[in-house]
Amino acid sequence: MRPRGAGLVAGVVLPALALAAGPPAAGPLAAAHGHPVAHTDPAATAADTLPRVHVLATGGTISNTEGDRLTGEELVQSLPGVEEVARITVEQFSNVASGAITLEQWLAMARGIDRHFADDVELAGVVVTSGTDTMEETAYFLDLTLAHCRPVVVTGAMRRANMLGADGPANLFDAIQLAVHGDGPRVGAVVLMNDLVFPAREVTKVHTSRPDAFAAPGAGPVGMADPDSIVLRSDLPERACGTAPFDLTGVDELPRVDVIHTHLGADGALIRAAVDAGAQGIVMASVGRGGSTPGQRAALAEAREQGVVVVRSSRTGAGRVPVGRTPESGEDARAPMLGAGDLNPQKARILLMLALTRTRDGEELREIFRRW
Ligand code: ASP
Repeated sequence: MRPRGAGLVAGVVLPALALAAGPPAAGPLAAAHGHPVAHTDPAATAADTLPRVHVLATGGTISNTEGDRLTGEELVQSLPGVEEVARITVEQFSNVASGAITLEQWLAMARGIDRHFADDVELAGVVVTSGTDTMEETAYFLDLTLAHCRPVVVTGAMRRANMLGADGPANLFDAIQLAVHGDGPRVGAVVLMNDLVFPAREVTKVHTSRPDAFAAPGAGPVGMADPDSIVLRSDLPERACGTAPFDLTGVDELPRVDVIHTHLGADGALIRAAVDAGAQGIVMASVGRGGSTPGQRAALAEAREQGVVVVRSSRTGAGRVPVGRTPESGEDARAPMLGAGDLNPQKARILLMLALTRTRDGEELREIFRRW
């Protein structure tokens, strides 16, 4: 149960809190290599039998106070009662705004989390604290790249830690509770914000400032934080364990994929600039069900002749752009063009980056976009 008055009291160490700090942050790769060590104590107490949760802190508003950033350890220490829920280890992966997280850090984060799960079969789950601006992208990337199916809960805050009504402590407490929620369906990576649990694939930020800034258009939440428990929908498709949808073995770098907006009067200049910058894929934030301007269509045809894969998603915010069939008109071009289904542009970019590590074939890409 979430305690009343769980608020932020930075620096207060709760006596019973089984908190072990992760390694000092010496960059994402170094941090990803640091593993919490489980100790077996002959004089084990009830607290020693609690499930283990690893908190990976990356920064964002949940960590922000006026002119300062709290550490992950300080965030966890501010949660009264959490010592009765889990034994927690903390890793300070980074402490930045979420817009500053790099693709290299994503790779390191996914590998590090899978390594934690592999090294500690009793690790119940991982909580990632993140800025909310790109949290939906981090959650989807992890969902597509983690081999283990234990819960990975991404959370953050819309209000800074020292603001009235700060939502970070409750979100973090609920995320830890969800991470130890052993009897629910295997949901993979999820976002927990403002009492609601959202699937990584569908969740998106829909407001710039309110605590209820997240929604999953067309899907809805998969669970909620009730005052006394976490309740997950029982009819969810279970995520497979053991293999990642996209195996990162041998992937040192993700291919460049740019997102380009369609608006009235848009010409092909930005599309040509993306191709010149080395884009291997372009995701269009198209109008409606995948439309763009005549100038953009001409530039996209040129891009495909140069081998650049094009995915059309919608700037609308909900609904589908049909993935399409093979052969589609223009399929004789050197690179395919397909629709993103119901993925929003930023999610379609992640899927295309990962898909391009595996194939450039039109039918295989369509299969990937139908499935993931
Ligand atoms: N600018 C912040 C970020 O890091 C916003 C937030 O955390 O809500 O995404």
